[in-house]
Amino acid sequence: MSELFQTVHEDFRNALREFIEKELAPHADEWEEAEDFPYEYFKKMGDLGFLGMQYPEEFGGDNDILAEAVFHEEIPRCLSGGVAATLGAHIGIAMPQINRFGTPAQKEKYLIPGIKGETGGALGISEPGGGSDVAGLTTYAVRDGSDWVINGSKTFITNGVKCDWVVIAAKTDRDKGYGGISQFIVDRGAPGFETSRKLKKLGWKASDTGELAFMDCRVPADALLGEENNGFFQIMANFAWERITLSLGSVSGAQMLLDGTVQYSLEREAFGQPIGKFQVIAHSLADMATQIEAARQLTYYSLRLLMEGKNCIKEVSMAKLFACDVAFRVADDCLQIFGGYGYMEEYPVARSFRDMRLGPIGGGTREIMREIISKTMGL
Ligand SMILES: Cc1cc2nc3c(=O)[nH]c(=O)nc-3n(C[C@H](O)[C@H](O)[C@H](O)COP(=O)(O)OP(=O)(O)OC[C@H]3O[C@@H](n4cnc5c(N)ncnc54)[C@H](O)[C@@H]3O)c2cc1C
Repeated sequence: MSELFQTVHEDFRNALREFIEKELAPHADEWEEAEDFPYEYFKKMGDLGFLGMQYPEEFGGDNDILAEAVFHEEIPRCLSGGVAATLGAHIGIAMPQINRFGTPAQKEKYLIPGIKGETGGALGISEPGGGSDVAGLTTYAVRDGSDWVINGSKTFITNGVKCDWVVIAAKTDRDKGYGGISQFIVDRGAPGFETSRKLKKLGWKASDTGELAFMDCRVPADALLGEENNGFFQIMANFAWERITLSLGSVSGAQMLLDGTVQYSLEREAFGQPIGKFQVIAHSLADMATQIEAARQLTYYSLRLLMEGKNCIKEVSMAKLFACDVAFRVADDCLQIFGGYGYMEEYPVARSFRDMRLGPIGGGTREIMREIISKTMGL
């Protein structure tokens, strides 16, 4: 047990792992094939208390962010990056915005059913014109009486096709950059809001990724989330958590792959011996184990800093950069050790190779992580 987690977290881990291995993993192939994760599983997981870990008890949560950290470590066991992404977007990036910045009425309206798994949410920041440069987004909202009217589009939005609501960022002062952005909660069915396209992807197949269109989309005044023109800071506020969750999942996903590959390397024979006994393969596996452990410790360190309320932007960015890159390299190296079978869908490594390519892009690219780290170095 890591010193980060208490017995209560390990008990939670065991219960969650059992659920994931019994209820999710056996369906991974079917959901990847169908490119769909049925939302009835939100409900099943909500009923078991698997969606509300970080949220206040008054809304049905556990008020325990470490339990959610356990969730992100365990979810790769479902064997589908797409399923992990669907759930992760709802609990780890969409609901946190409402929990942090929502009014009591907004929290009641969205968090209670969200934690029960009756509704699913999404977070829409990225746009066709750019994702890294948040301050440069062009979707805009103008006041019309007490309503807001939103125009623009979003793309690459996880859960964007099936979600019941989406928190979006829009300019409310187009003369300003980051100081002119606000956030809105837009319900499915709001006039002028539609999912214009379900996107085809390299990996994360079971998750739906949508392009969203806002055409004179009219939302009431109480759809504004947080303060007007404070949206940029609200978005940034959850980035540390999002990046830690991605790091946690990358580390545990890579560990699973490594464990499976060690086993394979002891079973598969070539030239009269298990391939794992060839020094080149044994050393490759040793290097992977070392890299994964380094990524885990950096991730835990940044999580500890976050929990202590310390400034951890540098460490979180390092963890995200390192863990996501390590995971993709591990997937590539493991695939190589599986040889031709690695390229086949019958082993999980092929899917992981596709799924883990997203790590250095989503939630802030590896280049943006390097930008942030270098800025903390005075560069
Ligand atoms: C499967 C998937 C799911 C996603 N889910 C969501 C979601 O739920 N919600 C959401 O809002 N977004 C989501 N995204 C979008 C994701 O956050 C963006 O793809 C990412 O932030 C990069 O933005 P971009 O794709 O527009 O690339 P760009 O910003 O156009 O960047 C293109 C390239 O230029 C580099 N670059 C940009 N600026 C700099 C710089 N200053 N210095 C050096 N290099 C730079 C980038 O690193 C990248 O390599 C998702 C993306 C994918 C692929």
